[in-house]
Amino acid sequence: APGHPDALLAPLNPAQQEAVLHFQGPALVVAGAGSGKTRTVVHRVAYLMAHRGVYPGEILAVTFTNKAAEEMKGRLKALVPGAGELWVATFHSAALRILRVYGEAIGLKPGFVVYDEADQEALLKEVLKELGLSAKPGPLKALLDRAKNRGEAWEALEIPDYYAGLPKGKVLDVLRRYQEALRAQGALDFGDILVYALRLLEENPEVLAKVRKRARFIHVDEYQDTSPVQYRFARLLAGEEANLMAVGDPDQGIYSFRAADIRNILDFTRDFPGARVYRLEENYRSTEAILRFANAVIQKNRLRLEKTLRPVKPGGEPVRVYAAPEAREEARFVAEEIFRLGPPYERFAVLYRTNAQSRLLEQALAAKGLPYRVVGGVGFFERAEVKDLLAYARLSLNPEDGVSLKRVLNTPPRGIGPATLARLEALAQAEGVPLLGAIRLGAERFPKPEPLRAFLALLDELADLAFGPPEAFFRHLLSATDYLQYLKEHHPEDAEDRLENVEELLRAAKEAQDLQEFLDRVALTARADQDGGRGVALMTLHNAKGLEFPVVFLVGVEEGLLPHQSSLSTLEGLEEERRLFYVGVTRAQDRLYLSYAREREVYGRREPRRMSRFLEEVPEGLYLPHDPYRQGAQPKPAPRAQGAFRGGEKVVHPRFGPGTVVAASGDEVTVHFEGVGLKRLSLKYADLRPA
Ligand code: ATP
Ligand code: MG
Repeated sequence: APGHPDALLAPLNPAQQEAVLHFQGPALVVAGAGSGKTRTVVHRVAYLMAHRGVYPGEILAVTFTNKAAEEMKGRLKALVPGAGELWVATFHSAALRILRVYGEAIGLKPGFVVYDEADQEALLKEVLKELGLSAKPGPLKALLDRAKNRGEAWEALEIPDYYAGLPKGKVLDVLRRYQEALRAQGALDFGDILVYALRLLEENPEVLAKVRKRARFIHVDEYQDTSPVQYRFARLLAGEEANLMAVGDPDQGIYSFRAADIRNILDFTRDFPGARVYRLEENYRSTEAILRFANAVIQKNRLRLEKTLRPVKPGGEPVRVYAAPEAREEARFVAEEIFRLGPPYERFAVLYRTNAQSRLLEQALAAKGLPYRVVGGVGFFERAEVKDLLAYARLSLNPEDGVSLKRVLNTPPRGIGPATLARLEALAQAEGVPLLGAIRLGAERFPKPEPLRAFLALLDELADLAFGPPEAFFRHLLSATDYLQYLKEHHPEDAEDRLENVEELLRAAKEAQDLQEFLDRVALTARADQDGGRGVALMTLHNAKGLEFPVVFLVGVEEGLLPHQSSLSTLEGLEEERRLFYVGVTRAQDRLYLSYAREREVYGRREPRRMSRFLEEVPEGLYLPHDPYRQGAQPKPAPRAQGAFRGGEKVVHPRFGPGTVVAASGDEVTVHFEGVGLKRLSLKYADLRPA
């Protein structure tokens, strides 16, 4: 019966059950990929509610993406009544919620906005201009993010004497000025969210006490990728009671560029004395063939703790490796193989190291008429037309938001061009007022004030609507600015797509309670969350974390891509790339294909490429070279089962060519291949056939 404890425990193995039965105090669940860590968290939460008398309003579960949070909440709703009240969130959305409720305690204004990466860069550019410096905003943004992920002051940052083409002193000026500008505009950037929340909780014991009540039992999934601020945040919330269950796999730590540190896991028992450690050793996701391959990969890392991971699904299709003559051919192979295996196409994922690799794959899939979706590509909310409309919305809630103001000032064009903007900026400077103040002054003083007056009137109208239903707000905005007409005139080539995006925005707005909530949700939607539609899933390895698919293609397994060029110089960098490879491989449930291209265009030049060292390290017998031209071209004798070969027999191997069996015992055969030498092969994996 659902009310009986067994209903929540029965679908788990004994080790998972033990973790679920863990009640108070700190716990660490450390286990390999696909061992049911996430499943254990879900059942633990349900169990707390159903059998420990813990209220849903006392439980917090932190996931890595918003999508994962939604999924987890969905599963919980199916498992236990009352799950609707659970707090399931990412670190960022949890922190933002705290700031929305209590932020005034540290001087945040109620309507504060959250800037995304593009806004952040726009503001940096402005600051650079203002300070009369010329530098690219990218590296400066990276510096800001690093400091904020670590929760450190700029002064503590290690900045070389020259950075981003600027002397160190100037770099610090830019960062400081940027931070002032954010404050003046009532804005936080993404990294600020946690830094501010942490400060709020550290400086306000009464707020901390309230939040702790709401988070008496805390769970953190993907703990290995927790950044230092996130770690401090979790630790602060957990407090003395420390009902914290952290769940992770140090072999899957792939976010050190966000300052995540897998030592979090290694140090857990030191930081939380008395912590219980639970290990899960059964892998339910992948076949034995895939898991043996995965284990062989990760064992090459030196900076790791040895773990056991046993397959529950024996045997399985061998892992296949395809060496394509060039990158276009690699993409064609993927599309053809998917076509051959057939629908449902949702069971396929194609994973790659860099976003740029998706283009050839998209083309190849489209050429075959296969449906696909790019998960976490250029995000929906990053598209120009969507950003325009959102900027109006943000401005309506927060008139100080300068980045949004500039974006919409002359979009659609209304006679406030660059010359007027320059005059307005000069006026703002001279009078010491923000840009909006200068517009007000200009509406009085400029010889042609009409466009400015009309714009101010529009903002007033919108501000009145900003507290009503979001959909009505956007509909009014569209008609008042004649925005759709503007799209048609200014983007005739792809107006169709853009109009559709606007429609989609209206649909999304309809689901939100109010504009503020809507904008927060948008701001937090990470790239990995964006996954519209059906079909083959295309995504980077980073975005594939935590997911699983029946059939996985991992492409570009070659030197320079995986490991990536940028990480070859240190052992740490290289080992992180190997973990990334491991994450990719362990997404596969039943079939895994790896491929690389012997030639690829890099920065417009054709370059010869080599198989990844990560693949070279894996023993021969654990995969099968795949030859799409030979397959099906001529009927081949079937591979033989165990013990079917005799010494002296002539055989053929797809990669080593013709050879003679030297010895055979059980699953193992030793073959002498002409021109290659002696090879020991496992019949389970090697596609060895009689000649
Ligand atoms: P990752 O490290 O990739 O995040 P994970 O350890 O979180 O993986 P889950 O995603 O929770 O693993 O589980 C992997 C798969 O195994 C899921 O399909 C899950 O439903 C299944 N699974 C986990 N435990 C069991 C079990 N005891 N019985 C049957 N299936 C299980
Ligand atoms: Mg998981």
